[in-house]
Amino acid sequence: MGQHGGASGSILLGLDGFEVTAAEIIHDEWRLAVQTTAATVGCAACGTQARLHARRTVRVRDLPIGGRPVVLAWRKRIWRCVEPACAVRTWTEQTVVIRPRAVLTERARAEACRRVGKDAHPVAAVARDLGVGWATIMRAVADHGTPLVDDPTRLDGVAALGLDETSFLKATRLAPTRWVTGLVDLDRGRLLEVVADRTRAAVDDWLGVRPRGWLADITTVALDPWRGYASALVVSLGHARVVVDHFHAIRLANMMVDQVRRRVQQVTLGHRGRKPDPLYRIRKLLLTAAEQLTQRAQARLRAGLAAGDPAGEVAVAWQGKELLRAVYAADGASKARQALARFYRWAHGVGVPELSRLARTVRTWEAEILAFHSTNGCSNGRTEALNLLIKKVKRVGHGFRNFSNYRLRLLLYCGVTWQTHWTARLRSRSPRLVA
Ligand SMILES: [Zn+2]
Repeated sequence: MGQHGGASGSILLGLDGFEVTAAEIIHDEWRLAVQTTAATVGCAACGTQARLHARRTVRVRDLPIGGRPVVLAWRKRIWRCVEPACAVRTWTEQTVVIRPRAVLTERARAEACRRVGKDAHPVAAVARDLGVGWATIMRAVADHGTPLVDDPTRLDGVAALGLDETSFLKATRLAPTRWVTGLVDLDRGRLLEVVADRTRAAVDDWLGVRPRGWLADITTVALDPWRGYASALVVSLGHARVVVDHFHAIRLANMMVDQVRRRVQQVTLGHRGRKPDPLYRIRKLLLTAAEQLTQRAQARLRAGLAAGDPAGEVAVAWQGKELLRAVYAADGASKARQALARFYRWAHGVGVPELSRLARTVRTWEAEILAFHSTNGCSNGRTEALNLLIKKVKRVGHGFRNFSNYRLRLLLYCGVTWQTHWTARLRSRSPRLVA
């Protein structure tokens, strides 16, 4: 066992102000005895050099070494002031790297936050790796992640704002689906905020507390054609141009195609789509952009429609979807207007109820749809990419129950800039004792 802590000891442990005095592997875990390098201290009250009064051992878990869990046994010093006139008797040493009553070192907590927040690892997996409970990790994520999310500069410089609804909890037998609204910086593709619900009030509350200058800098707002949002925007963002972006319009059209397919399946087969059903088998092809279909896919699509769509309603809906896509693909606003007229004529002429309903929605949002072309195609590949990220966080969260945890994890994954982190790399070798 080493006694004289040199710089080398603390470098090997990599924990500021600590040195290793003993190391062994028990039950496949590293057990490291550590102490601080502060062998002499003065009394905070009178400055007299303190005398070692006692030691008390506290155990905390630290980052794994070479994949093996690590338990630190910190032999904490209790100091005593020997000056008889001093009011101070004894005190226990403290450090910022291991907080009082902590289960984990601060760097392990920071690393836990990085893995859950930046890499979207499941909380349970990180808890297992560090040998602690789920709640300990989630607390670490909250403690280390909240300052990143609360950093006011995180919201700086937004010119194009996107609004998007996403389901937070799917409906159960007892409760309806719960929704949240994501607010997105469209230029940089980052998530600015997640608010509970998809109502006007939810968005309004968030916009209502933004500084006037921040709101004034926003020139474009892209949204989901969901009525509630628009009126919220008029109050705070009346000056901005509102756009229904490509992503959301096509998503609406795809939903329409799906509705028609399901109805036709039900009517022709008497049951919901099953694997061998011809329309069910082409359900994804129906939603694929026409120009992306290979010859083989086109043939499969035609065969599926021939077999499962006797009245041609699904084919008609599919054509309607493609005509709406043409509005966005058009070269400039006047060509887009012509494409829109073709879409209306088609929807009006064929009389498929789901398509007629889509046409009514499109008419309501016509100006915002055409505005897509006057905002330089304010695009929402960004929103789409973010939606995929959000889905990933939801998957690893196995269905969130707690909105604030959900919000925190989404913002940590899609909304903050992470500094390059080096503690994980620091410790790939085994600890060596202080010589
Ligand atoms: Zn003293």
